[in-house]
Amino acid sequence: MTQKNVELIAAPRDTHWVGDGFRVQNFIPSAYHLEMERMTPFILLDYNSKYTFPASDSPKGVGVHPHRGFETVTIAYRGKVQHHDSSGGGGIIGQGDVQWMTAASGVLHKEYHEKEWSKQGGEFQMVQLWVNLPAKDKMSPPKYQAITNASMGRATLPDNAGEIEVIAGNYGDVKGPASTFTPVHLMNAKLNSGGTASFSFPARYNTALLVIEGSITVNNTETVPLDHFVLFSNEGETFIVTADENSVVLIMSGEPINEPIAAHGPFVMNTRQELIQAFDDFNKGKFGYLED
Ligand code: MN
Repeated sequence: MTQKNVELIAAPRDTHWVGDGFRVQNFIPSAYHLEMERMTPFILLDYNSKYTFPASDSPKGVGVHPHRGFETVTIAYRGKVQHHDSSGGGGIIGQGDVQWMTAASGVLHKEYHEKEWSKQGGEFQMVQLWVNLPAKDKMSPPKYQAITNASMGRATLPDNAGEIEVIAGNYGDVKGPASTFTPVHLMNAKLNSGGTASFSFPARYNTALLVIEGSITVNNTETVPLDHFVLFSNEGETFIVTADENSVVLIMSGEPINEPIAAHGPFVMNTRQELIQAFDDFNKGKFGYLED
């Protein structure tokens, strides 16, 4: 196995608001002025770095909107997110939990701060990752996977280095609970100061990390501060992360879906014709109904 090198380190981006509840920076795709194809199957990564919301009796968030053609993966690091959808489903993503929503053929949903959390306010930190679906699965039925922190796979690292919390795919022989349509590895490395973890993924998989807490050094050479994003090159398999202080690092690697991408707003399809169809179906109410 050869070393997988850092291709670029992206500093924190300008923030924008998604509704009034999510103050995000976009790293995928805009951190490298490239197209969604560069990080496929990860086609979007919005990061709400730590931000303190004041107490609010009416929960802040984003109102009713559709999705089709992909999955949204919401990771709540601080605070709690509540959601409702047009099939009557809903739930709370607690601190440390993940919601893996397969929009596929289409859902309407709304996402906002959990009611009781909102009344208190506090520090909020969240990632939303969009995972593309292959053409053959884009119109499959929608579904949710509520992945609690307790259900995640856990690999304890030697030398008191910390642990790897596996959401999807595997770290060594420890598997994550999420089921995916294409091979995806998604995990949190929770490292103690000075602790080291090594990661190996096939060279052709698209691979990146985001520093959620603390600061790290990659491959003993590249210093990566808090809230910075690292894109790895598609050569070599193995990289090493060393925590320069107690750190949490989100690591993602996935097999590319080498199909054309036609994306607009909340729809990610393969062709322009399918995009037009998505807007048409949405306008005709075929995504169902959800009260605002
Ligand atoms: Mn959404």
